[in-house]
Amino acid sequence: MNLILMGLPGAGKGTQAERIRDAYRIPHISTGDMFRAAVAKGTPLGLEAKRYMDAGALVPDEVTIGIVRERLSEPDAAKGFLLDGFPRTIPQAEALERLLADAGRAIDRVLYLAVPEDVLIRRLAGRRICRRCGATYHLEFNPPKVPDVCDRCGGELYQRDDDRPETVAERLRVNAAAMAPLIDFYRARGVLAEIDGLGAIDDVFRRILAALEGSPT
Ligand SMILES: [Zn+2]
Repeated sequence: MNLILMGLPGAGKGTQAERIRDAYRIPHISTGDMFRAAVAKGTPLGLEAKRYMDAGALVPDEVTIGIVRERLSEPDAAKGFLLDGFPRTIPQAEALERLLADAGRAIDRVLYLAVPEDVLIRRLAGRRICRRCGATYHLEFNPPKVPDVCDRCGGELYQRDDDRPETVAERLRVNAAAMAPLIDFYRARGVLAEIDGLGAIDDVFRRILAALEGSPT
């Protein structure tokens, strides 16, 4: 099963990615992990990517796509994969299509976790993180026992700048605008499955399973 997982920040991608990985025994390949692994291994493409990242620059598509190609040709991805965070643009999606076709493969399904914007804002703006150990909390859904204090280590909790209500809406808008062409691209390919991302984690996962076992929408 060759899958792509898409969704806006706060849509619950991370949690569902773990479930899909375990259910289908396919690697969850996030862009960040993929870059870190390539840099750690010191592959020529990894070193090239590192030069851009160290300079605070965007890694060019040809480097990113080369790293994706290498990662997808590793043995653990032979029976399938779950891509997360790639592709981000139409040229990347087209390059992915070509590199898979070269290997006689194709994307089977693109799972798009759809959650209304007001819900995403509530989820993101309620997040708090421990300064000391990095544990994450949510004021509404997963509050600490004592306000502003980490249950695990007693550290102070803070809100990331990215999660402030005034920046969350803008961040969502920018992300949604970037994602819209990709959603159209995969819908036109007949592989898009739009998943209702509202409700309990188990319920959302059941919808994902139904979409993967049924025919594309
Ligand atoms: Zn802590």
